[in-house]
Amino acid sequence: MVDFEVTVIGGGVVGLSIARELSLSGKKVLLIEKNSSFGRENSSRNSGVIHAGIYYPNNSFKNKFCAPGNESLYSYAKERSIEFSNCGKIIIATSKEEEEKLNQIILNAKRNGLILEKLSKRRLKELEPELVGEVGLLSRTTGIIDIHDLMLNFITDIEHSGGLVSFNSEFSHSINKTNHISFFLKKDEKQEVKTKSIINSTGLHSHLIAKKIDGINVDDIPIIRYVKGNYLSLSGKSPFKKLIYPLPEKDGLGIHSTLNLNGVTIFGPDTVDVEEIDFHVTKNIKKKFVNSISKYWPEVKNKKLNYDYCGIRPKNTNNDFSFFTKKLENDSLIINLFGIESPGLTSSIQIGKYILKIFKHQ
Ligand SMILES: Cc1cc2nc3c(=O)[nH]c(=O)nc-3n(C[C@H](O)[C@H](O)[C@H](O)COP(=O)(O)OP(=O)(O)OC[C@H]3O[C@@H](n4cnc5c(N)ncnc54)[C@H](O)[C@@H]3O)c2cc1C
Repeated sequence: MVDFEVTVIGGGVVGLSIARELSLSGKKVLLIEKNSSFGRENSSRNSGVIHAGIYYPNNSFKNKFCAPGNESLYSYAKERSIEFSNCGKIIIATSKEEEEKLNQIILNAKRNGLILEKLSKRRLKELEPELVGEVGLLSRTTGIIDIHDLMLNFITDIEHSGGLVSFNSEFSHSINKTNHISFFLKKDEKQEVKTKSIINSTGLHSHLIAKKIDGINVDDIPIIRYVKGNYLSLSGKSPFKKLIYPLPEKDGLGIHSTLNLNGVTIFGPDTVDVEEIDFHVTKNIKKKFVNSISKYWPEVKNKKLNYDYCGIRPKNTNNDFSFFTKKLENDSLIINLFGIESPGLTSSIQIGKYILKIFKHQ
C-alpha cells in the first residue's frame, strides 16, 4: 500500500498548480515544500505579469502554454475573486532601428494567434503622456495578478479535494521499490514515505534534485544557467497606467516598468549571470537602470529609485520549458520540470493540465 499516489516536490506556483489538477482529478496527492510557507522563491520574485504570449517561438512549450494560460488565469481570478488588473502593455520603440524589430514582433505575435495594435507617436502620447518613443505596440490582454492570493487559492483547492500540503519538508532522495517509490525528507532520513509517482517541480533546484531521484540518468538532466533579475521601485506617483516594455534582450524582456496592485511602479528585471542562488539585490545598478529607463522615460533622472527585490531565471539551453518523463519498470512515473522561467506564472494552470494529461495517457 502506498501512502500517496503522487508526490509533488516544490510549493511554488507551478508545483501547486500541478498538485491542484492531480488532486481535483481524484488522485491522492502530497506536496512537499522545504520552506515554512509556499512560494518563497521565484513565485514571489517576479513581475507578476499575466503575459499574452507575444515573443515565444511558435513550436515552443512557452507558446503552447502562455496564451491559454493567460485566459485560464483571468477566468480563475474572476471565479475566485483574486485581485488582478487587465491594464494592458505597451512595447515601445525609441529609434527607427527598433521600429523594424517591432515589425518582427508583430509577425511573431500573429503566428501565435495574437493581434497587437500599432500605436503612432500621437496615439502613444494620448495613452501615456509621459512616455517617449517613436512607435509602440499595444497588447490589451496583458495584465497583473495577486500571485500570493493565486497560490493560496491553489492550496485551498488541493486541500478541499483531499490533498496534503506539507511545509518544512525538504526532499532528500528516493529509492525505487518493487511496486512503488520510497522517499525520505532531510529532517528525518529514517522515515520512509511511499508514493507511486514523483514530480520534481523545484524551480531553481530541479536539475540538482533530479540527481537525487533514483532511476534518473545524469545524461537526461539538462545544463541550467542562472540569470538574476533585480527590481528597483519608484518613489512617488506612477507615471504610467499601463505596463511599459522596451524591446526584448538576450536573456529577458528588457528593464520594463510594471505596476503592482498597490499602484507602485517597479522597474526591472535586469539580466545578470550568476553562479549561485542569492536573493539579495545586486548593489550599484541604479546607473544602469536609469540609462535604460531614460530611453522611454527621461524624467527618471530626477526621481528616486529604491532597491527592492530580485528573482533568478533557471535557463535551459534551448530557452524553453522542458519536461522529462520516465516510466519505471514498477509502473511508477517520474516527471522532472526544467527551465520553468517566465512565463511560468502565466502558464501555471496550463502546465498543471499538461501534467495531468501525461498521467492519463501513461
Ligand atoms: C525575474 C523574474 C521575473 C518573472 N516575471 C514573470 C512574469 O511577469 N510573468 C510570468 O508569467 N512569469 C514570470 N516569471 C517566471 C515565474 O516567476 C516562474 O516561472 C514561476 O514562479 C516558477 O514557479 P515554480 O513553482 O516552478 O518555481 P518556484 O517558485 O521557484 O518554486 C520551487 C519551490 O521548490 C522548493 N524546493 C526546492 N528544493 C526543494 C526540496 N529539496 N524539497 C522541497 N521543496 C523544495 C522551493 O523552496 C520553492 O518553493 C519570472 C521569473 C523571474 C525570475
